[in-house]
Amino acid sequence: MFAAYLSILIYMGNEELWKAVLTEMELSLTRANYTTWFKGTTMLSNNNGAVLVSVPNMFVKEWLENKFNKQIFLIVHKFNPDIREIKYIIGNARPEATLAKKDFVQFMPEQTLRDGSDTNVNKSTNLNPRYTFDSFVVGPNNELAQAACVAITKKLGSLYNPLFLYGGVGLGKTHLLEATGNAIIASGMTSKVFYISAERLTAEIVESFKNKTTEALKQRYHGYDVLIVDDVQALSGRTSTQDIFFAIFNELYGRNKQIILSSDRPPSAIVSLEERLRSRFEGGMLADVGIPEYETRLAILKAKMKEKSFILDEESLSYIATNIQKNIRELEGALNKIIAFSQIYNKIPTPKEIKQALSTYINAPYRKPTTQMVIKSVAEFFHIPTTDLIKRSRRKEVVRPRQIAMYLLREEVRHSFPEIGLKLGGRDHSTVIHACMKIKEEELNNDTMRQEIHMIKEIIYQNFKTM
Ligand code: ADP
Ligand code: MG
Repeated sequence: MFAAYLSILIYMGNEELWKAVLTEMELSLTRANYTTWFKGTTMLSNNNGAVLVSVPNMFVKEWLENKFNKQIFLIVHKFNPDIREIKYIIGNARPEATLAKKDFVQFMPEQTLRDGSDTNVNKSTNLNPRYTFDSFVVGPNNELAQAACVAITKKLGSLYNPLFLYGGVGLGKTHLLEATGNAIIASGMTSKVFYISAERLTAEIVESFKNKTTEALKQRYHGYDVLIVDDVQALSGRTSTQDIFFAIFNELYGRNKQIILSSDRPPSAIVSLEERLRSRFEGGMLADVGIPEYETRLAILKAKMKEKSFILDEESLSYIATNIQKNIRELEGALNKIIAFSQIYNKIPTPKEIKQALSTYINAPYRKPTTQMVIKSVAEFFHIPTTDLIKRSRRKEVVRPRQIAMYLLREEVRHSFPEIGLKLGGRDHSTVIHACMKIKEEELNNDTMRQEIHMIKEIIYQNFKTM
């Protein structure tokens, strides 16, 4: 405690420190990128070198964690060498005027603050015990994935191997993965279970290259009976990591060890993934986790309320479940916000107050995205330069992204077909019409396409919220 005080006295305050980070990040990024990922972020606290940063939403949280954490860490560390780690939480650092209360975020229920933190994580398995099958609500959107996970816990290695779960952010993939690991441990079948995100695994592998310990790392991974790798889309484009991962995968697979993977998209949609790895991923069982329907959302809310011993009337629950549809983490976030409200004001909020409290989630004013935003988001999603979409290139890899961009410009920006043709490589309007029809049809009939479009829209929409 004393040390923490001291460090605050000696080093910059939180606000100043974060400002320093923002200044450096602003210099190293394009303006749009900077606004997208850093607007609305604040440093909340520094507790013995563990810094807590508030971010406006899920999407930003994942990006800061996955793409910018290292850079941010280096900056804060430069100013304050005592800082050991940075955590990001989704929270409204500056709540709306009606709820204005300086310490709002400190009242965030423990569950929120713990999100992503390591306090309870088992040291040897890396599993967080909070994720169980019991606390997972099953609905039509996730029943296949859930059933596959449960089945695995009864028959390791031979039934579905690998099991590959995919679906958009915040829909319960990590929960299922970790619940599976926890259930395996609880069954006593084996304790050699290990959970890791692909991002962390990549970092370990890169580190092992530096230290020339890659063999030792492989040996360690060969020792597991169950290996769970979360968010494998992060392997995209990392060739040397993929090589090592491929070797580990083959070794385990060859000895019937269970491998469980997740990704925000199906293997076929992970760009820059080596073919041999893609075919391995597709060689087992693929199960998607979709967006829950109203009843499931309501059931999840009720389950979370019970977990947190909180009571809310049906009308309010229904209001939340109706208005927050696409992301369960947001659904949970909304509930947490309401619980925080009730703790601050010491009363259960009325339906009206709930509407007010959730206005940031719900009343995002509708604005039409610009052409630039659409093109940029599509390029970002497919990891290609925007110029590839705009130029008259016929490279095979850009054909599809360009068709999707055409479709989105039509649907979201409402451009005319000739206009779209002009903006994307000087195509004539019949090419554009053809592309739009094709993608629209695929969106209806093809899960992968639906997921992709959904995720790209999320990126587009995200740019909005932060501009
Ligand atoms: P993903 O890994 O797909 O991004 P998570 O597994 O992290 O999503 O889920 C986000 C949050 O929503 C977690 O707190 C998780 O416990 C919760 N959650 C998701 N799906 C369910 C469900 N079906 N029942 C209960 N909680 C869920
Ligand atoms: Mg996850």
